Amino acid sequence: MNHQSPIRKNCTLCGKSSNLYRQHSGQFLCNDCFIKSIEKIINRTISKYNMLNPDDLIVIGFSGGKDSTALLYNLIRIQQETYNSKDLIALTIDEGIEGYRDQSINIAKEFCKKFAIEHHIISFKHEFGLTLNEIVNQKNSSDDYMYACNYCATIRRRLLNDYAKELGGSKLALGHNLTDFAETFLMNILYKRVELIGNQYPFRKEQKVLSKFFINKIFPLMRLPEDELELYINLKNIHYYPKHCPYREKDPILRKRVLKFIQETKNMSPEIEFNLLNCFLELSELIYYKKKETPYRLCKKCGYPSGSNELCRYCTLKATVEN
Ligand code: SF4
Ligand SMILES: [Zn+2]
Ligand SMILES: [Zn+2]
Repeated sequence: MNHQSPIRKNCTLCGKSSNLYRQHSGQFLCNDCFIKSIEKIINRTISKYNMLNPDDLIVIGFSGGKDSTALLYNLIRIQQETYNSKDLIALTIDEGIEGYRDQSINIAKEFCKKFAIEHHIISFKHEFGLTLNEIVNQKNSSDDYMYACNYCATIRRRLLNDYAKELGGSKLALGHNLTDFAETFLMNILYKRVELIGNQYPFRKEQKVLSKFFINKIFPLMRLPEDELELYINLKNIHYYPKHCPYREKDPILRKRVLKFIQETKNMSPEIEFNLLNCFLELSELIYYKKKETPYRLCKKCGYPSGSNELCRYCTLKATVEN
């Protein structure tokens, strides 16, 4: 998205004067039409991929950051237009990242209060026994240290899944945007994580035995680039927590470099994120259905599916921290 049009033209949609240029579609847009187009893309993504039924109870992974705030705001908008839909529930995971998550949680609380949304906060400290800061302090000088994001993502995924189910949710809505999908896919290619790409197929129909463990996830923002979401939420004047997690800066993760590559490349080839998403969707579907019938074991500690291993990833990680 270029905020400045290369040549000043009228809005492609309404004919008034435009101040935005959407490079990947070649559209000139005024602010109002841009906002409407974002909301339309969310509606269309939900219906194209059959993400929601009117009788779903939706739990939203809600951090107070721009993506999950835009997601919750739009699900409220959609819910208000859907006759007899169930109330939404917001679920925040407190990893225990001092000076960051505590602040974003305050903003998440404010938002839920303002829109009268049921809100639950689940902490690493209470569920896992340690905050992320404590895990990092304990592990960062040891040989098996894996960087904060690896611990964080595994624990958070498990807690979101378990609590969304416990709260009676039939869908867990997450705020991953187009840029996140493109970045994750490219990273998995670089590391040749073929099996993981298959496991990430977003429209998977779990084997019946597995579906009792995992809630269905939906990603209504998957066709929206990060910069457009940021512009949208700023134009709408919705309060969100704007800072990035400090661990993302500290850890020498490849993700940062991949993101920079995508940002630079999309200036020349604006369709690149969409190509990566479409390629991911096709490839992950192929790999997922090819591997679907692979037998799996159950974790000796918690009983969750653990692939071909004795312990699942969550319990493996817990064991390394306890040792
Ligand atoms: S950047 Fe890494 S450590 Fe920070 S919240 Fe995300 S996954 Fe967790
Ligand atoms: Zn317009
Ligand atoms: Zn386990």
